[in-house]
Amino acid sequence: MKTIGLLGGMSWESSIEYYRIINQTVNKRLGSHHSAKSVMYSVDFEEIKKLQHEDKWEEATTLMINGARYIEKGGADFLIICTNTMHKMATQIQQHISIPILHIADATAEKIKAQGIHKIGLLGTKFTMEEDFYKGRLISHHNLKVNIPSQEERQIVHDVIYKELCLGKIKTASQNRYKEIVSNLIKDGAEGVILGCTEISLLVNQHDISIPIFDTTEIHAQAAVDYALGLYAR
Ligand code: GLU
Repeated sequence: MKTIGLLGGMSWESSIEYYRIINQTVNKRLGSHHSAKSVMYSVDFEEIKKLQHEDKWEEATTLMINGARYIEKGGADFLIICTNTMHKMATQIQQHISIPILHIADATAEKIKAQGIHKIGLLGTKFTMEEDFYKGRLISHHNLKVNIPSQEERQIVHDVIYKELCLGKIKTASQNRYKEIVSNLIKDGAEGVILGCTEISLLVNQHDISIPIFDTTEIHAQAAVDYALGLYAR
């Protein structure tokens, strides 16, 4: 079994989920007292959140590269970055480490394509929904059509992530707002929806939504296990 490196703490509310899913999945596959071999480096999310919102991406990249280096030194065989947003600097991080990064958008796109879906809705932070590092990758590497919410709706999705979900606050009003936003994506032709922020599955799940959901936390954590057990080729 390979040792999984987790760059986490963005936020820790979702890193807990990664840790739980990874260990439960390994145990399901191997039985007995088996659990995952892993190394985690967890950031202070306040520092990251501030740099993101002050548009200081170079400093944020340095913090991420340092974290990834600690993980490599700690003995990980490969790395997962436990947030969609911070895949913005995945290429730069990869240039500074020699272990491979398992990209969250690639793992998610594989699941979407396996279900024969071509037009996909995307929820996440404004960075993830609006910038090319994520949406562009789904389009250019995976040939998917990507629908995002309106500008006003994107602001709501973004604010709920940072002001509620990353702080462990789960509110019914926000759940209803997200459901409405997904309904609008469906009206625009979305055949499925990516929960493209690792905290969104704390708020909504498949029972709330009438089209297939692609929970990036679950998918990425399971892809890490598959790779650790040699069942997934990058
Ligand atoms: N966990 C979130 C994501 O998947 C947002 C937190 C962050 O900015 O990293 O994008």
